[in-house]
Amino acid sequence: MKFLDYALPYVCGIQPYVPGKPVTQLVRELGLQAETIVKLASNENPLGMSPQARQAVVVALGGVARYPDQHALTAALAAHHGVSAEQIVLGNGSNDVLDLVARVFLAQGRSAVMSEYAFAVYPLVTQATGAECLVAPAYQFGHDPVALKAALRADTRVLWIANPNNPTGTFLPQAVLRGLLAAVPEEVVVVLDEAYTEYLSPAERMDSIAWIAEFPNLVVTRTFSKIYGLAGLRVGYAVARTGVAALMQRVRQPFNVGNLGLVAALAALDDHLFIAESYTLNHRGMEEIVAGLKRLGLEHIPSHGNFVTFAVADAPRVNQHLLAQGVIVRPLDGYGMPRHLRVTIGRDTENRRFLEALEKALHS
Ligand SMILES: *Cc1c(COP(=O)(O)O)cnc(C)c1O
Repeated sequence: MKFLDYALPYVCGIQPYVPGKPVTQLVRELGLQAETIVKLASNENPLGMSPQARQAVVVALGGVARYPDQHALTAALAAHHGVSAEQIVLGNGSNDVLDLVARVFLAQGRSAVMSEYAFAVYPLVTQATGAECLVAPAYQFGHDPVALKAALRADTRVLWIANPNNPTGTFLPQAVLRGLLAAVPEEVVVVLDEAYTEYLSPAERMDSIAWIAEFPNLVVTRTFSKIYGLAGLRVGYAVARTGVAALMQRVRQPFNVGNLGLVAALAALDDHLFIAESYTLNHRGMEEIVAGLKRLGLEHIPSHGNFVTFAVADAPRVNQHLLAQGVIVRPLDGYGMPRHLRVTIGRDTENRRFLEALEKALHS
């Protein structure tokens, strides 16, 4: 297979993404019953999908022989955010729009800046273009605006920011973020990935999309995978200046979001009851899990998302004991955090199962 030698060296150098362990895999590996397994590994909505979205999907099943039409969702998102439809770019999940930004602005000989412990997809999409990843040291596991600014080079074309960040749950408040935007030269596209923004408390929320009028190099990304409960349907989007969005459209696959994803997202966007319920459940669960971690004497990183990351003396061993009890959390060695585990906030019963299993794992 001599031809493999001709694969692009920067592609060969990519560390593959490791997803949360699927329930089906644990069933195969340990012979556990699928119904008894608690999966708190991928920051999915424990309530499932919005009932309105489910209804819309059932109706749309009749039309799947036709290619999808993005018009209705694009128009609804534009109205929702008070921007023009030309400023919206839909993605097969927001990971897809991150990739579109990379393909428009990055290549060999260019670089992108990101924080230590930032979302794993940033190095993936950066390296896939041949560009170099410049990692700025974190401050207390979070993005450090001073370090990020200092890491920018003359060839830097993209700055990736997750706010709140995954897997640390750390958060930069509005004033800090705006200060960073003002300090970054316009030649650097700033991607503000707000996958967890709907979980912020009202006092923490910010209208970052309105800042695009002020900062032409700002691209804001959002997703339907988290609070909207549609991770498996793959819908996300970017909001940007028209000129930026038009370039992203050129490298986008025409039918990158399927019919079912489009109608589900459209319906979920207006399901305020479901979003409010999901938010309330998350805040209650976060309090319960944080209290439980403290009771067990474990340190955690204060989180602004729907998950929390905590430290244990022997993370691989604790993880194995949790798996044996049918509880799936996320090990973070891939993030350079081998002593930490990340748990997604679940339903009340799931959170209790997790805490009981964790206590047993620590004492076994
Ligand atoms: C989960 C997550 C996303 C969403 O990815 P999708 O492709 O939309 O499912 C984006 N950014 C961060 C930081 C995330 O944790």
